[in-house]
Amino acid sequence: MSYIAVDLGGTNIRAARCDADGRILARVGCPTRPEEGVEAVIARIISAIQEVWPTDESVEAMGVGVPGPLDPRTGVVLTAPNLGWENVPLADRLWEQFRVPCFVGNDANLAALGEWQYGAGRGHEHLVYLTISTGIGGGVITHGMLLEGAHGLGAELGHIVVEARNGPRCGCGQTGCLEAMASGTAIARMAREAWARGDPVPWPDPPAVTAADVAEAATRGDPVASVIMDRAAFYLGVGIATFWHIFNPTLIILGGGVMKTGDWFLEKIRAYARERAMTPDYITPIVRAALGDDVGLLGALAYARMRL
Ligand SMILES: [Zn+2]
Repeated sequence: MSYIAVDLGGTNIRAARCDADGRILARVGCPTRPEEGVEAVIARIISAIQEVWPTDESVEAMGVGVPGPLDPRTGVVLTAPNLGWENVPLADRLWEQFRVPCFVGNDANLAALGEWQYGAGRGHEHLVYLTISTGIGGGVITHGMLLEGAHGLGAELGHIVVEARNGPRCGCGQTGCLEAMASGTAIARMAREAWARGDPVPWPDPPAVTAADVAEAATRGDPVASVIMDRAAFYLGVGIATFWHIFNPTLIILGGGVMKTGDWFLEKIRAYARERAMTPDYITPIVRAALGDDVGLLGALAYARMRL
């Protein structure tokens, strides 16, 4: 018996057939091309699933990870800015096509589940997962369960406010969210601001600088880049200390593109978090995610198994 896992992102669709132990038996990927509209994307999801699903193989359930607010009970994607979607009944559409139970969940929550079941979080009953990439997403496992909240809208850990008065505008409309202070987008913005101030930036094309450029320059010791990365690490530490205080987890897992930066960056985050812990009792290991690019698929698998 196998499961279908789908990782629907703004850039790529990945689909896989997996067994319950987290082994990927077949996989396929294609570009999402959201600009072609909802129907075109749904058609690509369906054909990706068909590619990994041999007709003689029975499937227990499907899990689909989607960015953006959605209702996990109905499988309706409420809004997904990266996809340009509004009120799309994705679970129903896939059920109509395949007649297999289909569960749609927030991609960051699913990633937390995936790391818990198959990755860095195995054996923990309480953990917090953060993905730090273009934005910041998060998921919480508490008492051995995924925390989704009353309407399935939790846990938006990237939108805790860490700089309420003077913070920049976040993609969500508020100011000073963790995402606006420490995501890849925030790091690139700080780099452009440094250039606009006249700081001696090391990038040949400052308006096009990326978070990866800043991280690489900071790793080489560039002072402007180092200040920016230090600032991101500081706010991540502030956020993590807050999560320690609220959830009292035994582990913090950090994933996403920004965490590809060297160990010095992780060390800074750990130091800033420890500085702000209310008492040492709250302090736990802060580790890197283990599943890499497969976190979305394995998270979708874990979610399908959890919901079934
Ligand atoms: Zn926000």
